[in-house]
Amino acid sequence: MAPHAEIQQRVKQQFISSGLAVADFIHRYPRRITATLALLMLGSASGAFAVAKLAPAVPAEPIRLVSEDVALAPLTAQLDQLDSHSFTLYHSARTQVADSPASLLERLGIADPQASAFLRRDKVARDALFSRGAAGRVVSAEADDQQNLKQLTVRWLDASDNTRFNRLVVEKAAEGFTAKVDSGALVPAERLASGVVGQDALTVTGDTHLPADVTHQLSDIFSNGPGTKSNVRKGDRFALVYQVWEADGEVLRVGRVLSAELTAGGKTQHAVWFADKGSRGDRGDYYALGGESLYKPRYDLPLGKLRITSGFGLRVHPVAGATRHHEGVDLAAPRGTPVHAVADGRVEFAGVQHGYGNVVYVQHADGRDTTVYGHLSRIDVKMNQRITRGEQIGTVGSTGIATGPHLHFELRVNGSPINPSPVLAEAQTDTAVPGVSRAAFAEQSAAMLGQLAIADQLRPGGFE
Ligand SMILES: [Zn+2]
Repeated sequence: MAPHAEIQQRVKQQFISSGLAVADFIHRYPRRITATLALLMLGSASGAFAVAKLAPAVPAEPIRLVSEDVALAPLTAQLDQLDSHSFTLYHSARTQVADSPASLLERLGIADPQASAFLRRDKVARDALFSRGAAGRVVSAEADDQQNLKQLTVRWLDASDNTRFNRLVVEKAAEGFTAKVDSGALVPAERLASGVVGQDALTVTGDTHLPADVTHQLSDIFSNGPGTKSNVRKGDRFALVYQVWEADGEVLRVGRVLSAELTAGGKTQHAVWFADKGSRGDRGDYYALGGESLYKPRYDLPLGKLRITSGFGLRVHPVAGATRHHEGVDLAAPRGTPVHAVADGRVEFAGVQHGYGNVVYVQHADGRDTTVYGHLSRIDVKMNQRITRGEQIGTVGSTGIATGPHLHFELRVNGSPINPSPVLAEAQTDTAVPGVSRAAFAEQSAAMLGQLAIADQLRPGGFE
């Protein structure tokens, strides 16, 4: 075992056996040491949560480790040593577009003309570090205290197999530098993070180093459905667990958000990804803790129960007897049944119109759609009133031209009536976790809650 690997092992063991609470521990030591420890703990399952916050892909500050043998002294003494000695220097930097060996080595804190010449000359190293498409890779380097390169490593995804990665290692040997590329299997892992949503809903403040893809997912999860506006707002607090694929502890691929918690205005929402193996095949979805789908249909039902007695389109009018275009659907319900607005909006019209009887027009928030509710026995809203989804706007009746009590419901898009049946069918779909999968879901969501609670403690400011 290399000396630094050995001390890494020892400090890790002592850290774990010391039983210090992580938060308490990190509170007592400066940033540099916590970053060092985070690195030490890479690969340790029990340290995974510390890593989640404290080991960004590119450390903000140089990380130093002692590469001498240290007797097992009290933890605090070891940490003092870690902080005050520097034999091997460890640096990380990302490759950039138009990088040269000189510019990369400079960012890595290395001043070594031989190393620079080697990186210019060696095709294997050049391809891995400076070719098209190589920008953005994390390079880690070890140097001696004369700033001479000892070892340099870079890892990247295999372009043809996304379960594998490639690794370049440049090493100094007696006869000069060598460069070697090998490959390995990516290891799936989970990362925890928490923070506060920043100015732009997609920017996350704090020290969490969330990949952009994860913040986009978070924003989508807490929206009303695909393509709708997110409910994630500035100042909201979040915690989440997401899947990654690692190469030697470095995240090379980011996967799905597995669970998330959003606290806004004192209200906390949860989302748990669950792939249902039951009736709907392997399709996965995000669910609230109770098993309800987080995806809200665009519109709710206007009535508690849906029974269409007359569809949209050409029909023989039941009263007039002639063939006419039916501009909506007729929904059967007893007189006096409450009628609800299918979505947020503004009352465009509330009153009597020939044929429709007592009728309410609601213009919806997007300004594009209007819904119409006809033959009402009573109207409960006023013109221009702002109403919310599910709010009662009146009751079922048979005013206007109607053979009996029913709700005439229309959906108009840019003023033209369209068939509302698909929208009503969607509103009616039960999207909750099916009964057969409930036990599996309950188990998974309980585990996720535990992880979210840990993630929550990683909130910026909670440590230092
Ligand atoms: Zn009708």
